[in-house]
Amino acid sequence: MSAAGPFEVPPDTLYGVHNLPYGVFSTSGDPRRRIGIRYGDHVLDAAAAARATGAPADLAELLAAPSLNPLLAAGRPVWTRVRTAVTEWLTRERHRPAVAPCLVPYRDTAAHLPFEVADYVDFYASEHHAANLGRIFRPGGEALPPNWKHLPIGYHGRAGTVVVSGTGVVRPCGQRREPGEQLPSYGPSVRLDIEAEVGFVVGPPSARGDRVALADADEHVFGVCLVNDWSARDLQAWEYVPLGPFLGKSFATSVSPWIVPLDALAHARVAPPARDTEPLPYLDDRRAAVPSGLDLALEVRLNGRLIARPPFAAMYWTYAQMLAHLTVNGAGLRTGDLFASGTVSGPGPDTRGALIELTWNGERPLELPDGTSRGFLQDGDEVVISATAPGPGGARIGLGEVAGRIEPAR
Ligand code: MN
Repeated sequence: MSAAGPFEVPPDTLYGVHNLPYGVFSTSGDPRRRIGIRYGDHVLDAAAAARATGAPADLAELLAAPSLNPLLAAGRPVWTRVRTAVTEWLTRERHRPAVAPCLVPYRDTAAHLPFEVADYVDFYASEHHAANLGRIFRPGGEALPPNWKHLPIGYHGRAGTVVVSGTGVVRPCGQRREPGEQLPSYGPSVRLDIEAEVGFVVGPPSARGDRVALADADEHVFGVCLVNDWSARDLQAWEYVPLGPFLGKSFATSVSPWIVPLDALAHARVAPPARDTEPLPYLDDRRAAVPSGLDLALEVRLNGRLIARPPFAAMYWTYAQMLAHLTVNGAGLRTGDLFASGTVSGPGPDTRGALIELTWNGERPLELPDGTSRGFLQDGDEVVISATAPGPGGARIGLGEVAGRIEPAR
């Protein structure tokens, strides 16, 4: 460690002063859950730093909570004040003696679910993913359903089974109907899959009856996490007509523990791909002051092997459009709402964010370095999804990772 100690981070760090993602952590020596900010190889104990630097009482109180919810609810002007204050704590010489004891080595921390998930919605916003599933399940038909390019398709998921990265995922049991059979059977899923997705965390609520316009999305969206929407394809295939996903997805949804604020993603904003269908006015973002596409580079690893690099920039629908559509009927937002993008898949065969696409419904198994192959997940398999984004001056910022290991059915 240099003389400057924990304040010096390598220039190529994914967790420098331009990132500053928020989470909730504890240590074995101090099991209290508290807000942390990931910085280099350390986690800043936010409440301790606020006390040590004499921060304004309202900020200190928000940062002393055991979850991010009060900070989420406080809204964008407060988020900006907190980010400015944290940046000063980490960069101003005069704060260093007070702040240094508040930096905990990252390796000594355990991460927890960083916010209380209110409602959970999952979209289906990748044209490549939707078209691939259409080709697999409706061969010979139209790849996309007729509504797909007119609205971001989604479903309401189960908030209570959203778990933090590292939580084991028990193989679900349920009904499926084997090919060629008339009647369903019951048992552990034999087609357990992943969906590599990006999640958006909602801060201030909206009133029931109101809509959130495209231009107001950033007043409600605090930041971004990574999501693995574990999916039992056999359960899903038997149950999803006519009301959509249910038990095939509700057993577990994993999220990354470090929420990257939208403010950290200013250099990642890109125009969404060219679209060939005119959207209705409430979804028309062609004159947006700032684009809501995000150039996030995802990586998916199965038992350590890199199996896909899904590009979030290729998504057809943006988070602002998802939020506008989610609320266009007057559904109110709640603090802690989580909405996810749906599987991130790009145009290339190695950019697909689900095994069902990577193995074409199990027909082309992936070969793993240990000599085994996978159509779908086996017990003991570990999946890790990570991502980075462009930062200022050619730097990159990290979104951390969401990891999960499959445990045997019970
Ligand atoms: Mn999904």
